[in-house]
Amino acid sequence: MFNEELQFKPAIRWGMVGGGRGSQIGYSHRCAAQRDGLFKLMAGAFDLNAERGRSFGTNLGLSTERCYPDYTTMFTEEAKRPDGIEAVSIATPNATHYEICKAALHAGLHVVCEKPITFTSKEASELQSLAEQQQRKLAVMYGYSGYPMIHQAREMVRRGDLGEIRVVNMQFAHGSHNIEHEKNDPGLKWRVSPQVAGPTYVLGDIGTHIFYLCEMITGLEVSRLSCMKQAFIRSRAPLEDNAHVMLEYTSGAVGTLWASAVNAGAMHQQKFRIVGEKASIEWWDEHPNQLRYEVQGEPARVLERGSAYLYNDAAGVAASHIGVGHPEGYFESWANLYHRFALAFTGQTSHDESPLWYPDVYAGINGVRLCEKCVESATSQSQWVSFY
Ligand code: NAD
Repeated sequence: MFNEELQFKPAIRWGMVGGGRGSQIGYSHRCAAQRDGLFKLMAGAFDLNAERGRSFGTNLGLSTERCYPDYTTMFTEEAKRPDGIEAVSIATPNATHYEICKAALHAGLHVVCEKPITFTSKEASELQSLAEQQQRKLAVMYGYSGYPMIHQAREMVRRGDLGEIRVVNMQFAHGSHNIEHEKNDPGLKWRVSPQVAGPTYVLGDIGTHIFYLCEMITGLEVSRLSCMKQAFIRSRAPLEDNAHVMLEYTSGAVGTLWASAVNAGAMHQQKFRIVGEKASIEWWDEHPNQLRYEVQGEPARVLERGSAYLYNDAAGVAASHIGVGHPEGYFESWANLYHRFALAFTGQTSHDESPLWYPDVYAGINGVRLCEKCVESATSQSQWVSFY
């Protein structure tokens, strides 16, 4: 159960780039970071439109002087203040991440960046080196990885409850963009523009989420992949609104990943089934408090968040906020991650001394690599391409 007394005093001084008025994801960051008092929003360059950003920031309660017209001014001015920000979250469209991350790390800030962190794995690796050089952390907002039952799944695989992993079946396939909504939705328009979104649409936007979940749960390393992708809404080409990926892992396990925005009728449909030699587990983000556990030859079980029989990582600190039976969801998952980021940024391990896990820059690099390799394969008639 979550322990409210585990706070950082004072809270980490925190700023935001992007996430301004009407943005899709800004509120999620503010909610999660400040939920348990670990971070405090002190400054922001919230919007491309400086005036709108300023009025938005002051409406959130910030002083006018700390609502900046752009991120460069914010990093420069904050560095001069004795109470300047120590960390920043970047919630802007994809094309800007690389430059803003670089500037933030140069300014000596810890960073939480939205995914995909860059357009190329080369740029992502540069950010990794820069973070090391600056002795700062770069975390990536794979927001679903804070669900307690994801940690239960990871621990079950690690303890051998499933036996050796054979098959990883992943999908994140919603139906929200089955028609050309981008005509009236600027938040979708940039997602299907290569100059802003990068080399992919659904693979980077949602495929990277489920890929990361299964990567951290199984610990498997991809050796090669083959990808087929298409734009059912033709104006989205060369970006895809549907993609299928086949994967081989170095262990001999195999996987499939379906990412789609045209799965008509589906709300979210982010799911995995991980099959081991003895048993399988299944999870669906629309029912995140349950993990289905099927042992061959036994009745299927549904494990419930908050239960005493769960392993430590799923039952411990920065996991459940309330007891068993009450539904927890997306905001708790994000808050759990921000809790882990706070520990990492302040140089602490987990409260219980176990190694601290969180989606770090390496997770970010692999997400970008997934996109890169899928494009490479899909544009050469789905040929198998090596992952590294
Ligand atoms: P959006 O278009 O809704 O909002 C973007 C915001 O950033 C706007 O307020 C805009 O004015 C501001 N902005 C743009 N360029 C800026 C700049 N240079 N400086 C300051 N502000 C700037 O976009 P969104 O849907 O919120 O997506 C933002 C990022 O979050 C994307 O990288 C996206 O992939 C990611 N995202 C992640 C999740 C998740 O689950 N982790 C969910 C949605 C979006």
